Amino acid sequence: MRTIEQLTRPNIRGLKPYSSARDEYKGIEASVFLDANENPYSPSYNRYPDPLQHQLKERLAKMKGVDPGQIFLGNGSDEAIDLLFRAFCEPAVDNVVAIDPTYGMYQVCADINDVAYRKVWLDADFQFRADALLAAADEHTKLIFLCSPNNPTGNDLCREEIDHLLDKFDGLVVLDEAYIDFSGQPSYVGQLNRRPNLVVLQTFSKAWGSAAIRLGMAFASPEIIAVFNKIKYPYNVNQLTQEQALRLLSEPEKIQNWVSVLNKERRQLMERFAALPFTEYVFPSDANFFLARVSDAEAIYNYLVGQGIIVRNRHSVSLCGNCLRITVGTSEENNILLEALRKFTMY
Ligand SMILES: *Cc1c(COP(=O)(O)O)cnc(C)c1O
Repeated sequence: MRTIEQLTRPNIRGLKPYSSARDEYKGIEASVFLDANENPYSPSYNRYPDPLQHQLKERLAKMKGVDPGQIFLGNGSDEAIDLLFRAFCEPAVDNVVAIDPTYGMYQVCADINDVAYRKVWLDADFQFRADALLAAADEHTKLIFLCSPNNPTGNDLCREEIDHLLDKFDGLVVLDEAYIDFSGQPSYVGQLNRRPNLVVLQTFSKAWGSAAIRLGMAFASPEIIAVFNKIKYPYNVNQLTQEQALRLLSEPEKIQNWVSVLNKERRQLMERFAALPFTEYVFPSDANFFLARVSDAEAIYNYLVGQGIIVRNRHSVSLCGNCLRITVGTSEENNILLEALRKFTMY
């Protein structure tokens, strides 16, 4: 593997980061803060938040079985995706490789940063071959993006292929685990200590029920995390978000319960969806959504919009012709969807 130093853009390697008034702040020792030009009145949101979120990382580290130095927290995992490009990919020179179809933000961030984005199609089972990704890579490939369970296909990627890619690729493998809580497979976070080229992304937006607080996680070697910390905005995770995340972490049973309810609902919804006359195929899912091929995705999508029900039309995505992506909702919401779809068959 190339070293992290070799992979990092030269301007980032040499960067002297902004040093904020609170860089040394650990949240407890001092009692008089006259260093940051804050208004001393208006508690309790008058102070800048902890730039490195120490307390939150301590709690997450225990739960995930990693060191706090292996965690980066950002304004959604989208921030971590963008930082990966800004840290490692030289615009107009470097490139990244990704499975296709997958989460759209990888390509958007590549385009914003003027980094070539090389897509390699999944096979008919929505699986990938590590050798195909490696064949698409060259000496300017800094990152390879995987997503497991994958969005929009819903399936876990094959672990043998992920392992093979981690063994053979000399850049960073970014594994997006936004939906890992719904999967029967263990997280790759457990492999961080023996995988120096692995970056795992997770989020509070899905199983943790907190898309609105914007909190994403990246797990990687302390060396990679140090690069993120060097280039991130100083106060990228606000105080309200840090507090709400700590509250959530104190009741993990609640999340476990949501996950088991949603997984049960998913099985039921998929079965009923498969029985609709226009459904051609329901793809297996390891996430809180599923992909289904129907006779006319556009017509069904538009009909549902007219009923005030929004699903995701994936017709224009590679390998997803006439496919709808359906998020599993509450039992009531799922019934409303099915009722509407049964009426559609009468048209
Ligand atoms: C929803 C989703 C995310 C979440 O992004 P946030 O910015 O953390 O809300 C990340 N990756 C994938 C594949 C997703 O589907």
